[in-house]
Amino acid sequence: MKFHQAGDKSKAICEDCGSVVPATFAYRDVPFDDGNGVAKDVLAIVCDNCDRVVALPAPSTPAVVRARKAAEIPLEVSLTAPEMDLLDLAAFRIDPQAGTKLRKTLIAYFLRRLSEDSDSILRLQQNCLNFKKQRSSAAGIPSRRLSLKLAPRTNDNIRALMQSTGLKKSQLIRGVIGEIQEVLVLPDHPKELGKIREIADLITA
Ligand SMILES: [Zn+2]
Repeated sequence: MKFHQAGDKSKAICEDCGSVVPATFAYRDVPFDDGNGVAKDVLAIVCDNCDRVVALPAPSTPAVVRARKAAEIPLEVSLTAPEMDLLDLAAFRIDPQAGTKLRKTLIAYFLRRLSEDSDSILRLQQNCLNFKKQRSSAAGIPSRRLSLKLAPRTNDNIRALMQSTGLKKSQLIRGVIGEIQEVLVLPDHPKELGKIREIADLITA
């Protein structure tokens, strides 16, 4: 990608002039894409004939796209305290300071991985069964409520995995926690800890 600066020359179609025109990169106030207000001093491509903003170079587009509140879909599942502890222990290994912030990141990350992995179905079902055995072998385990707000694409992964595994939502989340346990909690030196830490850094930054 070429990095343009103010003063660089270009050509563009200008609607006002009705033709291809010589144009120049320059800083202009550009309306936000939702029409409410302007983004100040954005590098734009301006018609040399009439001074209309005729195009925006790619690096300038984030400045004028209004950050939209992504639609969030609530996820509410009942877990046992040990299941929740596993999730929090994995989060602690990634970042001891993150508190409960990484719960969602971990669940979403693993849901995506699992939905891309054709061997995951049996593992998820098996994990879910293991947790069920633990629950029935110990009486008086407190329950915990996992309550998250998910992006639509994460919710899509949940629905697809529920279909392919035949698990209910809470069972699927248990299956995912089982996978997190395998990858991040049980190994002394989890292979993927570094990679997942980098992702988590981006999110908690
Ligand atoms: Zn023009």
